Amino acid sequence: MDKINTKLVKIDPNNIDYEILSEAALIIQNGGTVIFPTETVYGLGADALNEDACDKIFKAKGRPSDNPLIVHITTMEELSELVDEIPQNAKILAKHFWPGPLTMILNKKDIVSYKVTAGLDTVAVRMPKNKIASELIKLSKCPIAAPSANTSGKPSPTNASHVVDDMFGKVDMIIDGGSCEIGLESSVIDITSETPTILRPGGVTKEDVEKLFGKCDYDPAIIKSDDKIIPKSPGQKYRHYSPKAEVILYKGNLYKIVNTIKNDCKKFIDAGKKVGIMATTQTKDFYNDGIIRIVGDRTNPITIASDLFNELRNFDALGVDIILAEAFDDRGIGKAIMNRLEKASSKKNELGKIKILLVCTGNTCRSTMTEGIMKSIINDKNLDIDVSSAGISAIKGDKASNNSVLVLNELGIDLSSHRAKQVTDKMLRESDLVLTMTKQHKDILLRSFKGLDDKIYTLKEFTKDNKSFDIQDPYGGNYDVYKSCSIELEIEVKKVLDILSISNTTEPCK
Ligand code: AMP
Ligand code: MG
Repeated sequence: MDKINTKLVKIDPNNIDYEILSEAALIIQNGGTVIFPTETVYGLGADALNEDACDKIFKAKGRPSDNPLIVHITTMEELSELVDEIPQNAKILAKHFWPGPLTMILNKKDIVSYKVTAGLDTVAVRMPKNKIASELIKLSKCPIAAPSANTSGKPSPTNASHVVDDMFGKVDMIIDGGSCEIGLESSVIDITSETPTILRPGGVTKEDVEKLFGKCDYDPAIIKSDDKIIPKSPGQKYRHYSPKAEVILYKGNLYKIVNTIKNDCKKFIDAGKKVGIMATTQTKDFYNDGIIRIVGDRTNPITIASDLFNELRNFDALGVDIILAEAFDDRGIGKAIMNRLEKASSKKNELGKIKILLVCTGNTCRSTMTEGIMKSIINDKNLDIDVSSAGISAIKGDKASNNSVLVLNELGIDLSSHRAKQVTDKMLRESDLVLTMTKQHKDILLRSFKGLDDKIYTLKEFTKDNKSFDIQDPYGGNYDVYKSCSIELEIEVKKVLDILSISNTTEPCK
């Protein structure tokens, strides 16, 4: 497209310069394009009721013509002018979430052109909260169609420098109004069916909507990554949010994610690649190689949402070839974060649960009790960890010792069905982590089986107990000996699970 003379202006959202904003409104009224901040991401706006103006949006973005635009308004009266009728559900949602990061899909009136809706009979409408955005709509005296202000396919812009990178010379005006608060695009919710359906997850979550209506569905296309399911939201069918670098996404147990990223990072660097790691406050210290950037804090996922696109663009600015990205819990706002990361990535590594093998001598006392205690906590906390146990010289089928059964019974754990197993090469290979009860067990395994060096630890070595490496053998001892052994094991098990869940206090195990 021909280069346009772009005017770049700055507006303080807390002290709006109305002279500049009126100039922006005049551009919109005259059929031009203005990029402005919203609380989600920057929008590329034009008069929603002017087809030629809307055409300019598609051209500037290189947006496929079958991907409809969101129309931005400031009052419910404006909504009535755009849509057939406002269903009760829409009124309730508007009352709770407008102005804010919620886009509703409703049946359109004729006044809305098929250019804006990409041929659909429905229209997407949102009432933004950002003061610059809402004042601009009011001054323009028309609804403003505004998709995210990025080149199609790239991460949405969350600050003015992102916008300048993509759009300078392609629009009439860019308003720099600082960083966007939420940092991810609005939730798109279809209200035309009886049950509200989320077509694109965002700041307003499924849980938020369920609180109001009891029920809220996800469009099947955003739950399953199956190319045969056609998304109801046309935009969801495109590769999206992609930086120049290749993004590889690692899913599963976080401890496993971190270890796999560490190994892969080394391999890619050896192959001559420049590698970026998208880490979090909790995981940053585990990594030694690559360009490590923190995308936010896992205990406060809003921080991750607001920085995600910025970090994807930062990696491009740093010139990395590959970005290794950790996955996130996909509940609440996490669903929106994962939706964007899945679309940005070209490869996904499904690592699944972490598999732990506990090893002692006969597999009737120490490793058996440890397995019982660990399984009970894993079950209570719903952790993504699998655990089993075996012995170095076990007699296959032996039951757990009487005192082991007794002391664990007092913790509500039943060992009566346990049967001893002899450790095998296959068991060791299939495990991600092998924890032995003593240093001697570890040494025997290392001598007897090859290639275990990076996954075998004594239990106390793994938990960094400075006093000793060994859990003393209670075999042949009385009830008290077993009781104190089970107390010691419970303490160690809790430490292991804390490390594997990578909590705030966890230190890297080098
Ligand atoms: P953007 O404005 O770039 O954030 O993209 C707007 C999103 O809203 C895209 O994913 C569109 O597919 C979606 N959208 C807009 N209008 C409709 C509609 N009528 N039905 C379904 N999805 C829509
Ligand atoms: Mg977009």
